[in-house]
Amino acid sequence: MIGNNLQAVRERILRACAAAGRAPETVRLLAVSKTFGPEAVREAAAAGQQAFGENYLQEAVDKITALERQPGALLPRPEWHCIGPVQSNKTKLVAAHFDWLHTVDRLKIAQRVSEQRPAGLPPLQICLQVNIDGGASKSGVAPDEALALARAVAELPHLCLRGLMTLPEPSPDVEAQLQVHRRARDLFEAIRAAGLPASARFDTLSMGMSNDLEAAIQAGSTLVRVGTAIFGGRSYAPSP
Ligand SMILES: *Cc1c(COP(=O)(O)O)cnc(C)c1O
Repeated sequence: MIGNNLQAVRERILRACAAAGRAPETVRLLAVSKTFGPEAVREAAAAGQQAFGENYLQEAVDKITALERQPGALLPRPEWHCIGPVQSNKTKLVAAHFDWLHTVDRLKIAQRVSEQRPAGLPPLQICLQVNIDGGASKSGVAPDEALALARAVAELPHLCLRGLMTLPEPSPDVEAQLQVHRRARDLFEAIRAAGLPASARFDTLSMGMSNDLEAAIQAGSTLVRVGTAIFGGRSYAPSP
């Protein structure tokens, strides 16, 4: 079932790329496995999925370590993306267990994961979360502060700045989705054009989920984060 769902999502991505005149390999699929256990990750990995997104740190670390335990460790090792909010007292878990962090919205978090990245691991790949639609309760750097934050984060060691991430208010209206995603794309292009330190590899626009991935791809997303359409509906509490 997860395999069939994955195939259906891949086909949606292919159709959206074709409609937008984009090459399919310019959009990556991140499977958001939050609230689902290691077996769901195994099933998706068996169907060829390599990158997984998690929101809840303790749940994620339990899952990642369970999947690394021998025998039966997944090969190749999945790539783990932290896409949930991170408090500064939890940065060490992110630095130790993840490959990517999508939710940096202030310098302090980036400084901490930079200092805490264990020696021997590759740089942690970073996206800045931008509050693109002004949702008051939401995390994310304000769009007009994103360039300054990008420049500061790009100077830190043990990190590689990869791009921006957005999490707009859900809307059933495709035109409204497109408008917000285009604002994110314009900001992404503006930051690239403004110039960043050479250590940055600013190539990732992380936007689009189960309900708006077509609009996100049309607007220029390079990485869609899809949970429900792959794993099914979630109950809100993380699974024990
Ligand atoms: C849960 C979550 C997703 C996946 O959402 P779906 O609607 O289930 O596809 C994507 N991004 C973030 C940041 C999330 O928290």
